[in-house]
Order: sequence, then structure tokens, then C-alpha cells
Amino acid sequence: MTARILDGKALGTKLRARLGARIAGLGFKPGLRVVRVGEDPASGVYVRNKDRAALEAGFDSATLHLPEATSEAMLLAEIARLNADPAVDGILVQLPLPGHIRAEAAIAAVDPAKDVDGFHPLNAGRLAAGQKGLVPCTPRGVMHLLAEAGVVLPGARALVLGRSQIVGRPMAQLLLGADCTVTIAHSRTRDLPGECRRAEILIAAAGRAEMVRGDWISPGAVVIDVGINRLADGRLGGDVAFQEVVVHAAAISPVPGGVGPMTIACLLENTLEAAVARRGLVAGWRKAPR
Ligand code: NDP
Repeated sequence: MTARILDGKALGTKLRARLGARIAGLGFKPGLRVVRVGEDPASGVYVRNKDRAALEAGFDSATLHLPEATSEAMLLAEIARLNADPAVDGILVQLPLPGHIRAEAAIAAVDPAKDVDGFHPLNAGRLAAGQKGLVPCTPRGVMHLLAEAGVVLPGARALVLGRSQIVGRPMAQLLLGADCTVTIAHSRTRDLPGECRRAEILIAAAGRAEMVRGDWISPGAVVIDVGINRLADGRLGGDVAFQEVVVHAAAISPVPGGVGPMTIACLLENTLEAAVARRGLVAGWRKAPR
């Protein structure tokens, strides 16, 4: 067996084009503001990519780049200003922040209605409670990839490798919400290969290069690789040993070109949803009936 490759780049492009077409029919440009503090080099690349994708799709997008020396109080004041700006529908605080700023304080300062990263405790709580809210972009992108793979989710045994607030936990909640039987694995999990072998859907989000081996995979499983790691030879690679796994799985997302482009597309999807919800519009983009 050779797995079908789930092309996140193509799927992300399709999703962004669909969002662009909806925006064209809206009569206004949903506003996205990315707040970056300091000079983390990887953040620079991410922020530029987000900005470019947003502008191409017709969003009103801009990056607020604050100096490294920005205090936590100054950052919170900037977030408060964006919260109050009616033209701003989505606010994303790019992580990591400099060490003197508490990420949880910045995340909690964002208006939950504009929290397009879906990291605010209120949105995390809504997701855990099975209520509607803004959902973190990477897990949302994974759900699109699973749909593209044609996976029947209800009843499927899913394993999420990783339990972070931004990927593992919300991922597990989304799969549970889709009626999967979900296992969450982490660094204290006993017999990780055995747990993986039981999975029909495996989502790898540990941040450990190529840790998921070919003999951990149940034949026919769908494998989504969230990890982004710099390999010894300088290339980017995932958490999955791609060449070993591709011969066992039914479908697999590559790194790069899998989850990464979907994350950006879902940031835009969240921003459009936030814009529509904030302005009292509903699907179909008309005013909600009263
Ligand atoms: P974190 O470091 O916050 O979390 C990693 C998780 O993996 C933890 O729960 C940790 O367990 C678990 N873990 C680490 N090592 C092992 C191990 N050897 N065995 C079992 N479990 C392990 O990472 P993130 O969730 O933020 O990110 C995960 C990966 O996804 C990274 O490579 C990151 O770069 C990538 N990423 C990709 C995105 C994309 O758009 N494609 C977006 C966001 C992240 P424990 O809790 O016990 O410590």
C-alpha cells in the first residue's frame, strides 16, 4: 500500500479562494490585526505569510510590530485599543512573546469575539463544553484534511500525540465532538507505539522529528503530521518518519505542505466567521432575521 498524500497547499488555496469569493459578496473587508513583539525570526516568516494570504483573499490585514522592549502593560493597552476598534474583526498575538511578557495575560486580554487564534480561555472552555466559539486554527485545519481524506469520523479510534493548549487538547476536543473515540498521548504515556497501533486516525503533534515510526501504524490508518522540526540536514520535517509510514497508511499529510498551509487558511476562515458574527450577519451573509 502507498498512502494518498493529503495536499494541504492545494486544499488551503481552495479554501482561501472560497473565502475570497464570500468576502467579495460581503460589501466590507473583514479586518485582521497580527500583533508581533520583538524579533523572533521564525515569527517574522509566519507573520509575513499570514499577512500576504489575508491580503490576497481580500481581508483588511495589517501587522502591528512592537519593539522587543515593549512592556506587558503596553502590549495589553495595544490589545485593548484593537478590541475597541470597530474595523478590527480578528486579533492574533503572535507567539512566542519576549520572556518578560506573560503569554497567558496577552491571550486573556483579547476580546473573545475577536480571538481568531481560539486560545482565549472562554473559547477553549466553549470548545470543551461542546459549544460554538472560535476554534484554534491548526486543529481546525486538520479537520479539513480529514474531511478531504474522506475519513468516516463517528466511532473511529483517534490518537492525538501531544496535549498542548494550542494543538493537542483542542484537536482532541474537535475529534470528540465529531464522535471519534479519542486517546490523548503525551510524554508520560506508557507503550506509545502500542497506543498508536490501535489508532485508525493518528494526529502527531509532539514536536519530535520523525518519532512516529512505520511499525507504529495500523495498516490503512490516516496519519496527519502537525510537527514542524528542523532536521539535521537543514530541511523541515514532521513528527512522522514519512518514508516508513507512507507504505502502511491509507493517507498521510506531508511536512511541509500539509497542516501548515491549512493553519493559515483557517485563520482567515476564523476571521471571516468572527466578522460575520460580530456584525450580526449569518451564513448567506444577510442580517439575521429578528
Ligand atoms: P508543545 O511542545 O507545546 O507540546 C508537545 C506535546 O507533545 C506535549 O504534550 C508533550 O508531552 C508531547 N511530547 C513531547 N515529546 C514527546 C514524546 N517523546 N513522547 C510523547 N509525547 C511527547 O508543542 P505544540 O503543541 O505547540 O506543537 C507541536 C508541534 O507542532 C511542533 O513541532 C510545532 O512546531 C508544530 N506546530 C505546527 C503548526 C502548524 O501550523 N503546522 C502549528 C502549531 C504547532 P507533555 O505534555 O507530557 O510534555
